[in-house]
Amino acid sequence: MVKAVVGANWGDEGKGKITDMLSEHADMIVRFQGGANAGHTIKNKYGKFALHTLPSGVFYSHTTNIIGNGVALDIPKLVEEIRSLTDKGVPKPKILVSDRAQVVMSYHMLFDQYEEERLGKASFGSTKSGIAPFYSDKYAKIGFQVSELFAKDLLEEKVQRVCEMKNIMLEHFYHKPVLDPQEILDELLRYREMIEPYVADVSSYLAQGLKEGKTVLLEGQLGTLKDPDHGIYPMVTSSSTLAGYGAVGAGIPPREISQVITVCKAYSSAVGAGEFVSEIFGDEADELRRRGGDGGEFGATTGRPRRVGWFDCVASKYGCRLQGTDEVAFTVLDVLGYLDEIPVCVGYEIDGEVTTEFPTTAKLRRAKPVLETLPGWKCDITGIRDYGALPENCRKYIEFIEKSIGYPITMVSNGPAREDIIYRKGGK
Ligand code: GDP
Repeated sequence: MVKAVVGANWGDEGKGKITDMLSEHADMIVRFQGGANAGHTIKNKYGKFALHTLPSGVFYSHTTNIIGNGVALDIPKLVEEIRSLTDKGVPKPKILVSDRAQVVMSYHMLFDQYEEERLGKASFGSTKSGIAPFYSDKYAKIGFQVSELFAKDLLEEKVQRVCEMKNIMLEHFYHKPVLDPQEILDELLRYREMIEPYVADVSSYLAQGLKEGKTVLLEGQLGTLKDPDHGIYPMVTSSSTLAGYGAVGAGIPPREISQVITVCKAYSSAVGAGEFVSEIFGDEADELRRRGGDGGEFGATTGRPRRVGWFDCVASKYGCRLQGTDEVAFTVLDVLGYLDEIPVCVGYEIDGEVTTEFPTTAKLRRAKPVLETLPGWKCDITGIRDYGALPENCRKYIEFIEKSIGYPITMVSNGPAREDIIYRKGGK
């Protein structure tokens, strides 16, 4: 069977923790989109890790960890990430990389940086990992597929062609140094050597595994609101963050995805620019940011302070719907234990009317949050393993949100570690 673990919001919902936890009973864990631009933070017996490209199943020796064709594959970063695990005593994981994945090139990072510089204040807040230039090239059909690294003759001709195009932009638009085709070819050949041990026909490997009854986890990066079609365009990422895309980005039939677990955080956070209706500011925000996540809300890739806000029922209901949610994992609830009262965004007021439907970006810009305030529980809930043992106000908070978003909360995460989880089968 195939389960997808995806995010309902702007990302950083705690998907890494949930995937790591579910990997205990999974055989294959697949990354199907995105690249090394965001990170999953995982805390387990080996220590604390920020994974960027590797699937979060790499901490178990029984798992096969797969980088699907939909991923923006940054080969030096992948190799470095594998080394950072083994350096900390994690047994070398089994890793397969799709021969149909495409390669992030050094010039993708340069173009990302040049474009952000050019945009100045209007920039996207890109992590400059080359993701947007990478996916642009993929769909413009001038990207390099892993399989092409092994066809040197074709590669030489293509490198010439790509450099010609890139150099026009570099010289005349960005006024930056041009690319040397020989250097680009050498870069590709270096990548070939680095990636060769991992390359596989991933979709046939997955098909075989599914035939044998294996359990596959699809691990999403970011969340619904960063999806290029359904998110807060243009402040989105460049590949689909939806479970539905998991079929394409891994190379499996869509009907194989039988369970979608959508991760929602008990409050909101976002990195980078873009609409965020329930955002809070000032001291109130600083306190939540400082107490949030595990050691503060700072980006796993960039260390940038995350924007924070109250739980947004409108965005989360929409986020869950687009994912095709069967179950919700509700995370980082322990962090809210300090608050006397907890505001929740239950609607958007747009041009004097209140709606609970998530609108397109132009309208979203005019949305003001409609807040409802719930009483806090004023204690530390870490260590609790039984739903009934949670304070009454804490259960009320969970149940209020469950009702507002309309999807069952079956898991409540009350700490960063694998064992900090409360199962609540059936949810509402
Ligand atoms: P992801 O990209 O969705 O995997 O999320 P991130 O790793 O960027 O952010 C989640 C952060 O919250 C990480 O630092 C996790 O260790 C931490 N985390 C996950 N679940 C919990 C939880 O239930 N409680 C607390 N306090 N931290 C959590």
